[in-house]
Amino acid sequence: MEDGCIVDVRPWRSASGPATDVVDLGRCALLPAFVNAHTHLEYNVFRGRLEDIEFFPWIGALMALKASLTEPDWLASATMGAAEAAAGGTGTIADCTDAGAAAAGAATIGLRGVIHQEVFGIDGKQTVQETVAALDAKLARMAVALQGSLLTPAVSPHAPYTVRPELMSALARYAGDRGLRLCIHASESQAEGELMLRGSGVIARRLAERGIGWETPGATTVAHLARHGLVTNRTLLVHGVQVSRTDARAASQAGASWVHCPKSNAKLGNGVAPLWALRAACPTGNLGLGTDSAASNNGLDMLEEMRFAVLMQRASRRRIDAMDALQALEMATLGGARALGMADQIGTLERGKRADLTAIRLDRLHTAPCYDPASALVYAASARDVALTMVDGRPIWWRGRHAANLAAQRRQFRTAARKVSGAPR
Ligand SMILES: [Zn+2]
Repeated sequence: MEDGCIVDVRPWRSASGPATDVVDLGRCALLPAFVNAHTHLEYNVFRGRLEDIEFFPWIGALMALKASLTEPDWLASATMGAAEAAAGGTGTIADCTDAGAAAAGAATIGLRGVIHQEVFGIDGKQTVQETVAALDAKLARMAVALQGSLLTPAVSPHAPYTVRPELMSALARYAGDRGLRLCIHASESQAEGELMLRGSGVIARRLAERGIGWETPGATTVAHLARHGLVTNRTLLVHGVQVSRTDARAASQAGASWVHCPKSNAKLGNGVAPLWALRAACPTGNLGLGTDSAASNNGLDMLEEMRFAVLMQRASRRRIDAMDALQALEMATLGGARALGMADQIGTLERGKRADLTAIRLDRLHTAPCYDPASALVYAASARDVALTMVDGRPIWWRGRHAANLAAQRRQFRTAARKVSGAPR
C-alpha cells in the first residue's frame, strides 16, 4: 500500500519488507470494507425506542421524537452511528440526513461515502423556491463539514408521499445542474403503491386528515419518479419491496441503482423485496445492500444484513438457489460500490484501488472451524468479530478502538438518549 492505494495483493506467505510493515492479524478474512448503501446515522439514538409500531404511525412517531433533539444531540447520535458502522467493517456509507449531522459524524470517524441532504415538502407551506433555497443553504453548510473528508454531498427527495411533484421536478433540476447524486425511498410499502395508483389506503387517509391535497398519479412509484426527472444514472432507489419486473427494468435502463434493506423491510412489516427481479434488472451488478437506520433495524451490522438477505430470499421463495453467500458478499462490497458509482476506487481488493479493507476474525467459538471463509462470514460471523477497518490506507477501527477520540460525543449521546427516553411519541 502506498498513499492509501493498494499496490499489490499477495498471499501472506509471500509478504516481505521491513518487519514494521508487516502486521499479523491472525486468522482473519481480509476483504474490501463494506459499503453500507443506506443509512441514517443520526437515528442511532432512536434504537429500541420505536418498537412494534405499524409503518406509517412509526414514521409519525419518529417525526415526533426528532423534535426533542438539539444540534449537539444530532451530532452525537450521527457520530455514534458512524462509529458503529466503522466498528462493523463498513468503510463507505450512503447516508440520508435530515438534521445534516451525518456529515460531521461520518467525517469525524473517517468514513468514505455520500451524504444526501433530505428534503420534505408534501404540503405547500413553503414554496418550491423557498425549499430549494433552504436546501442550497444546508448543502453549503455541509460542504464546510465535509472539507478534507472522503465524503461528498448529495440530495435526497425523501419519498413520493413526502415530496410533492412540482418540488420533485425542481430537485431533479437542482441536482442535475450540479451533478449531485440522488437517493429516494421508493416502493417500500404496499400503502405507497395504493396511494400512487389509486389514491387510497392509509397514507391517503393521513394526507386527507392533514388537509393536504393529493393528485393521484395513477402510476407506479418508479414511473412517477421518472416523470419528474428523478430516475437517473446518479439515483439510488432504496427498498424496492413492491417493485414489478417492468419497473425494476425501467429504473435500470435509466441507469439508476437499487439498495436492498432486508432487515428494515421485515421489521416494519413491509415484506421481502423481489431480489431476483432487481438482480435480473441490474446486469452490471449495481445493486447494493443497506442496513437502514438503528431506528428500524436495530443495528448497522452488514454481516447480519447479508445473512438476513440470503435467509429471507431462501425462505420466501422456498429455493436454496434463491441467493448464496458469495452473492451477499458481492452486494455488500462491489455491488454497493457500483451503485454509488465508486467501483473504480473501492469494492474489491486489487492493485490501483484505494486501500479500504476490513479484517474479520474467523477463529472464535461461533465461527470455528472455518471450512469456507464466505460461508463463515455470511452465516456465522457478526460485526463483533471485526478486527480492523481501514479507509484510504488509514485504520479507523483497530484493536478495539476508533482512531477518533469519542469521549465527548459519548457523553452527549447519553444526554440525547435521556431526552428521547422522556419524549412523547
Ligand atoms: Zn431510509
